[in-house]
Amino acid sequence: MTVDSIQNGIVIDHIAPGAGMKLFRLLGLEGVEQSVAIMMNASSGKLGRKDIIKIDGEVPINFDVIGYVDPGATVNVIRGGELVEKKRIALPKKLVNVIRCKNPRCITTCEQELAQVFELTDAESREYRCAYCETRAAGI
Ligand SMILES: [Zn+2]
Repeated sequence: MTVDSIQNGIVIDHIAPGAGMKLFRLLGLEGVEQSVAIMMNASSGKLGRKDIIKIDGEVPINFDVIGYVDPGATVNVIRGGELVEKKRIALPKKLVNVIRCKNPRCITTCEQELAQVFELTDAESREYRCAYCETRAAGI
């Protein structure tokens, strides 16, 4: 599958090598009906190697998830076979229902209906902490 073969969909490009699979899982792409391709360790002039995810079709994407996994990724939106938009991704300040708190005593563990909220506490090290108990999120 090449970009040219996508009529309507998105291509997540310049993902750090090795992060593509994690992003694929966190975006919930395993369960979708649309055609999704992951290319790992594709050659890239600037970064050396990169991962790429191509989604052929309309799949709702949480851009915060992309920013969390790799703020250096780019998102190309394809409509009618043409590149119509190139989105720059930023490190999100807050993550809602993306990752789960690992603290067994956290209120979100007992109260399952609560949203899983993490806040960016250190942009430099990309550190996120649970908004309820301040437990640090496991690294990417
Ligand atoms: Zn917590």
